[in-house]
Amino acid sequence: MENYYSTRDINDKVSFSKGVTRGLSPVGGLYVPENFTQIDIFNEKYIKMSYQDLATDILSNFLIGFSTDEINQFVNKAYNTNFETDDIVPIKTCDNVNFLELFRGPTLAFKDMALQILPEFMVASAKKEGINDEIVVLTATSGDTGKAALEGFANKEGIKIIVFFPTDGVSEVQRMQMITQLGENTHVVAIKGNFDDAQSGVKEIFNDKDFANLMKLNNKVFSSANSINIGRLVPQIVYYFHGYFELVRKNEIKNGEKVNIAVPTGNFGNILASYYAFKMGLPVNKFICASNVNNVLTDFLNTGIYDINRKFETTISPSMDILISSNLERFLESLDRKNDKLINNLMDSLKNSGKYELPEELKSKLSPFFGGFTSDEETKATIKEVYEKYNYVIDTHTAVAYKVYKDYVTKSGDSNTKTLLAATASPFKFSRAVVESISNKSQNSFDDFQLVEKLSEITGLCIPHGANNLNKKKIIHNTVIEVKDMKKSISDFLNLK
Ligand SMILES: *Cc1c(COP(=O)(O)O)cnc(C)c1O
Repeated sequence: MENYYSTRDINDKVSFSKGVTRGLSPVGGLYVPENFTQIDIFNEKYIKMSYQDLATDILSNFLIGFSTDEINQFVNKAYNTNFETDDIVPIKTCDNVNFLELFRGPTLAFKDMALQILPEFMVASAKKEGINDEIVVLTATSGDTGKAALEGFANKEGIKIIVFFPTDGVSEVQRMQMITQLGENTHVVAIKGNFDDAQSGVKEIFNDKDFANLMKLNNKVFSSANSINIGRLVPQIVYYFHGYFELVRKNEIKNGEKVNIAVPTGNFGNILASYYAFKMGLPVNKFICASNVNNVLTDFLNTGIYDINRKFETTISPSMDILISSNLERFLESLDRKNDKLINNLMDSLKNSGKYELPEELKSKLSPFFGGFTSDEETKATIKEVYEKYNYVIDTHTAVAYKVYKDYVTKSGDSNTKTLLAATASPFKFSRAVVESISNKSQNSFDDFQLVEKLSEITGLCIPHGANNLNKKKIIHNTVIEVKDMKKSISDFLNLK
């Protein structure tokens, strides 16, 4: 059943399995679901479900063509003892804010929620599509996607995984996680540039017809593990429902009551998943879209104008150091469904002038969203404040969302609505910034790995498996290249002839 179409050509219709294996549409657009099945949140069954059962239930609305048994197998492989806690996504309640701990997976960031299951989708989809070529997953990362994709795809049969990360802007922990990655089928390369350079480079390679032909001659085909892949997006819808039902179970809310959703946002994938959940019937009052000083989304939500003509800043929340939020294209499409002409116009304008403006009549549709941003200083102060008030340690990204939530409460006066806040990374992953925040002094005499231990000492928290002894692991990938050499690097690794 072809129930997905491209944002830039509604006649490019695909099944879930085809969408997953392709990643990006050949016309350059992103695949979006044609329909959103309504979830009856009052159905008693949901309150009783484990994370895995809920995932199977929600995903079956999107994985048309796969049996419940198959989906159940994917889910059970993905959400298992590879997560630190049995409930997969625990919730920590601090007054009205409920932190949805999405970082309990193997690489300590929420990316695991999708990237532990995407490889299952990919292998099964390739089979369904009768693809005999080797699938080469090509990924640009601002730090967390890379490791999560490597962890998910390492040693998967019939698949190779290539990750490009920017030398500027990933944390030491993130870098070591990636360059120590085991697995014959993995290739990790640092590029001299920032995340947008890496992402644009990858997009260009995806759209390069000659390179695709060369790949084909070598019996290989590209796919993507970035959130442009529809298979990345749908597993993220699940945890918003999970969070909601968990609040009902804990009597924090009555079933049917509206909640706010606050998300630290970069590529707009995570918050879009919550918006898709809303379209499926999740009762949402406000979406709080939190950025760091790369605040292009804040401006967009406030003015309807998206403008990347500004300085790119590196911050202590590097996974949000992004100016081109690729999933915003899916959101734009949702504002005026099937208007592919509009999307082409906006994206052409972005490409040619670095900006676009929503048509006046669509601007009012941004009103369910509140956009805000924080400086690094505010982020640090927020980590300290939450630690002192609640004895709870949050990472830099989560802190951005918390601060923007607070700003939302001040501006709107809405201090009553319960809020689900996406806690997207473990504080151990950003040990330097977190220890410096809590101790309120610079920690220049320690490296990031010593600070992982120090964070554990100060807070009494156990070091999660994924951050333990990282600096003692063997470095396997130590190549650094210019952006212009990305193609050559791929070609060499794959031995293309
Ligand atoms: C990727 C990431 C984000 C941003 O998520 P998007 O889906 O790109 O908006 C936020 N926080 C952390 C820790 C991340 O890894």
